[in-house]
Amino acid sequence: MNPRTVLKDFFGYDHFRGNQESIITSVMSGKDTIALMPTGAGKSVCYQVPAMLLPGLTLVISPLIALMKDQVDALNAIGIPAAFLNSTQSSSEQRFISEEVVTGKIKLLYVAPERIFSGGNTVLELLERVTLSLVAVDEAHCVSQWGHDFRPEYLKLGKFRKKFEDAPFLALTATADTLTRKDIAEKLELLSPEWFISSFDRPNITYRVVLRNDAFQKLSDFLSHHPGDSGIVYCLSRKGVEDTAEKLQAQGYQALPYHAGLDKDVRQRNQEQFIKDEIKIIVATVAFGMGIDKSNVRFVVHMNMPQNVESYYQETGRAGRDGLPSEVLLFYSFGDSITLGRMIENAENPAHIEVMKKKLDRMVTFCQTQRCRRRFLLEYFGEQTKEDCGNCDVCFQKGNKLDMTIFSQMMLSAVVRLKEAFGLGYVILVLRGSQSAKVQDAHKTLPVYGIGKDRSEAFWKKLGNQLVQEGYLEASGQEYPTLQLTPLAWEKLKTKDKIMLAMEEGTLTTPTHQDHDKGLLEKLKNLRFSLSRKFNVPPYIIFSDATLVEMATYYPTDRNTLKQINGVGEMKAEKYGNDFIRVVKQYMLEHDIPTPSAKPTRAAQKRTTAPEKPSESELETLAWYQKGLSVTRIAEERGMAFGTIESHLFNLVEKKFIACNSLLTDDEIAEIKAFSETQDGKLLRPLKDHFGEKYTYLQLKVATRLA
Ligand code: ADP
Ligand code: ZN
Repeated sequence: MNPRTVLKDFFGYDHFRGNQESIITSVMSGKDTIALMPTGAGKSVCYQVPAMLLPGLTLVISPLIALMKDQVDALNAIGIPAAFLNSTQSSSEQRFISEEVVTGKIKLLYVAPERIFSGGNTVLELLERVTLSLVAVDEAHCVSQWGHDFRPEYLKLGKFRKKFEDAPFLALTATADTLTRKDIAEKLELLSPEWFISSFDRPNITYRVVLRNDAFQKLSDFLSHHPGDSGIVYCLSRKGVEDTAEKLQAQGYQALPYHAGLDKDVRQRNQEQFIKDEIKIIVATVAFGMGIDKSNVRFVVHMNMPQNVESYYQETGRAGRDGLPSEVLLFYSFGDSITLGRMIENAENPAHIEVMKKKLDRMVTFCQTQRCRRRFLLEYFGEQTKEDCGNCDVCFQKGNKLDMTIFSQMMLSAVVRLKEAFGLGYVILVLRGSQSAKVQDAHKTLPVYGIGKDRSEAFWKKLGNQLVQEGYLEASGQEYPTLQLTPLAWEKLKTKDKIMLAMEEGTLTTPTHQDHDKGLLEKLKNLRFSLSRKFNVPPYIIFSDATLVEMATYYPTDRNTLKQINGVGEMKAEKYGNDFIRVVKQYMLEHDIPTPSAKPTRAAQKRTTAPEKPSESELETLAWYQKGLSVTRIAEERGMAFGTIESHLFNLVEKKFIACNSLLTDDEIAEIKAFSETQDGKLLRPLKDHFGEKYTYLQLKVATRLA
């Protein structure tokens, strides 16, 4: 056997990802190795594959006792003999496992660092009796005082390295700044280690930061875009956890709390229900997640700012380990940085206080930055990038913000004229010169009365909300909130600076295009859920969401095609194959989906669904377009960004409501295509650079993707 066959037969994957193969080669050749990889990149494969190929035992040192059982279950489920030793087991259980280790039945043994040196029969003694082939140190950043998660017991591992000079050590971590990196090699006393540093980018995660006013409203907006998805909502305090969980339950969400103040049993049960997909949302203090390995977490929300970028990166990293699109949202308020600052002051070690304070400052900068969030994160971890990501709130808003200075000035001065004593609804009545009896007579003589009558009520509402969102207006009072200007607004009025606002709707959504059959996916998930009940394992141990999505894309109807699906190895194909194939076949029958005759390629097997209907907003754009308005004019009319209108039109072409040829002639399409074929990627930028003003982005996009 070689690494590739182990990967295919046991894990069901066709290819190694990123640095996995080089790391495995380095380890197999006996070298000490350090692997820095982001969460979800697949660190465990780097020692699990060698474990199956090396003659002796692979020891995995991990601080996360709670995770061990899941990891071992997952390994056993694919036929890899693994076990763990920790304090939760009885001594007879521990003896039994030790015996199996000595007789070579167990290839992978998980232990916590403190177990190595302490306790009655230490792991050290056990190791004297076996051949140790490899030691994997997981979460290796815990060895460094410069890190955010220092654990003194890790320091002893240096001693351990010396004792077992023949076995290579593999240190793995998902988070480490430069100082911590150097520290890992030194403190673990690694012998001229090979370094493998992967990109820390998590391209499937969308990052968003918003101000924490109306937090709960914003949270429910956000959640309404994730129906049925699993996710974590983090709060700073226990009370925050309790309140948020309660409010979510009141809105009908399947949400449960998790914090240290809860009864241990309750806490564990809640965690378990979340892991088993029995509830969708867990509301937790940051302690939650250290011990879970759930791969289908679709969103992570921070109701409060974390203490440092490392923690933020690690906590958000719990989203989307299966590689599918996931979203993270952080609520930021200035108050949090003060609270956290105080918490740090109360820490014991003064050297540590300084380190932590600097880290907090960087976290605040992250929240306040007007730069691409992903670039900020990557640069924080020492990675230089050339381009903005296009997949974070800052990037979304960039091209989408419009100059709203004049309208903003109208609204701000109306608020001032009304002595900051009224709510948004009333301000709008005045601006639009309403005849309603609700408007006091005195206000009908104000200079601002009726100055905004050209614009719709919806327009002013959007503007008002954006002014609040962007920190120009503040609402106070519970029952009848009234609007006040912030210092920022006064400043802007004085300097007559531009006020740019995102006037687009639904800023909390990202359109995702997935080609899978949603109905089938639902059925497959149901099957997975009942199998997970039957075998008493978490659903993701059976198959990840990513694997089910692939099944719902390629409709495997026999064992062979099933094994082509990523994540289906020999053992799982054997154990669950028939069940899943049956559901696929049944579904195809019920929905009249023809079975492919010959063995098709994956692409050919892919099915297309009927074209979607345009959204209401797209239809409105279509109406303007049919009246002959230009994109710019439509954008103005609708108070929306140019880019938004362009994307409406693109979708309308895709959905066949507008013909390609109404945007471009055949010759023009041919010209664009001919040049595009000389280019490597699919990016539009090089095309735009080449053609200049001759074609718009919309035309280039339509010609290359739809014509
Ligand atoms: P990490 O420990 O780095 O967070 P894991 O080892 O838990 O990541 O792996 C994350 C997910 O990616 C798991 O579901 C794992 O099975 C999957 N995975 C790992 N390697 C590959 C690969 N080469 N191809 C496809 N999926 C992989
Ligand atoms: Zn970005």
